[in-house]
Amino acid sequence: MRRPLVAGNWKMNKTVGEASELVNSMAPKLNELKGVEKVLCPPFISLPVISYLLKGGEVGLGAQNMYWEEKGAFTGEVSPAMVKELCQYVILGHSERRTYFGETDETVKKRVHAAQKIDLIPIVCVGETLQQYESKQTNEVVARQIKFGLADVDAAFAPRIVVAYEPVWAIGTGKASSGPSANEVVGKVIRGALSELFGNQTAQAIRVLYGGSVTASNAAEFFGQSEIDGALVGGASLKVDEFVAITKAASKS
Ligand code: PEP
Repeated sequence: MRRPLVAGNWKMNKTVGEASELVNSMAPKLNELKGVEKVLCPPFISLPVISYLLKGGEVGLGAQNMYWEEKGAFTGEVSPAMVKELCQYVILGHSERRTYFGETDETVKKRVHAAQKIDLIPIVCVGETLQQYESKQTNEVVARQIKFGLADVDAAFAPRIVVAYEPVWAIGTGKASSGPSANEVVGKVIRGALSELFGNQTAQAIRVLYGGSVTASNAAEFFGQSEIDGALVGGASLKVDEFVAITKAASKS
């Protein structure tokens, strides 16, 4: 059985003070929801205080990225050990990182291996752009991102990985995919590629989330799908009632 997971990606939003206020109003409500894993991914600068605020509760903490090198002269970067000290999860290969910061399947792979080495749970994002979607390249693009990004991962670590299927055209646009079409990409393409890498049993054990304009109104449509195990939520994760309602929908799925 794959345990549902809902992760909030706050992106570059909220100062440390604002982030603390948001967590203080959100965490008590999230703590009450059973049968679903809950994760908040604020900006790096807020991780120490939020890690402190979440202590003793049931909400996990994730970073939005990390560098793969252990330490050294990499100005502006954050190492796996720095993330591991505070977090259990790390988002890797988000489409905004790929689009604006030049990340590729090769650099995603390096980060995934760094996460494996330190035993952080990577939430690895894949998804096609609008142009790729319109030219019917979704399956090819997503399969390639999985096969390259997760290449050479140890079989023992593979079941801990979380994949997020996030069509780029659905992120922050208000135009979510539909439950059935996301389910088809996840079931056929993503689990197919995972099966080629790790075998069918492991492919069935890996959690795959949907991401892209998930709201309280459409969440249940995605969580009702057989292959979708939760959501990576951007904009709606900054609103207490909205994120709690999405997480509640997952807890019932
Ligand atoms: C995201 O940032 O991963 C995301 C899915 O954003 P949004 O929910 O705002 O579309």
